[in-house]
Amino acid sequence: MFWGYYGFDSTYLLVLIGLVLCVAASAKVKSAFAKYSRVRSRSGMTGAQAADMILKRSGIYDVRIEHVRGDMTDHYDPRSKTLRLSDTVYGSSSVAAVGVAAHECGHALQHARGYAPLSIRTALVPVANFGSSLAWPIFIAGLIFSFGPLLSLGIVLFMAAVLFQVVTLPVEFNASSRALKLLQSNGILYEDEIRDTRKVLSAAALTYVASVAASLLQLLRLIILAGGRRHDD
Ligand SMILES: [Zn+2]
Repeated sequence: MFWGYYGFDSTYLLVLIGLVLCVAASAKVKSAFAKYSRVRSRSGMTGAQAADMILKRSGIYDVRIEHVRGDMTDHYDPRSKTLRLSDTVYGSSSVAAVGVAAHECGHALQHARGYAPLSIRTALVPVANFGSSLAWPIFIAGLIFSFGPLLSLGIVLFMAAVLFQVVTLPVEFNASSRALKLLQSNGILYEDEIRDTRKVLSAAALTYVASVAASLLQLLRLIILAGGRRHDD
């Protein structure tokens, strides 16, 4: 470790706690998805068919649905208005697959209806990229030179990256709640199937909560390190 010379950096524990939270959340979503991937929906619609139906019935005709390779690579791309569904979602008629497909439709609907948190999130992308790539180098430079303003700048840049993750939360929760309503109102899933789908989508949402928690712990670490260094001066 860079400042190992000054003794064990106990604030590193905060990073480890964040890491454990993220790993646990990711394991939970993987097991929920695997479990409900084995439950076929009674309508027999695949993820792609469900997405097509939801989009058309919502009056959206300019979003393309594509198959994308990989696992859990499903996403909606607002720039090209493309909804990409992964191997385990596109052609699968499980309640998990249909749920994920509907969640991505939720993002397409947010885009089409001008849902404010999504617009804010999109606007924050460059700020977040800038913040996350420069926060640490600037902060470490601040530690090397024991220069307070650099430490503060590093913290502010890191906060910009955290803000982006925080704004992601309402976007994700809203896409899932739209998905569950759409699956019900379009008769794609029955009541008991919706309950299973909700479990998969809630587990997925939890991964976003875990990454926000991990980032807040890292932010706390930066503040503690900066504070400690200032007292040394
Ligand atoms: Zn999403």
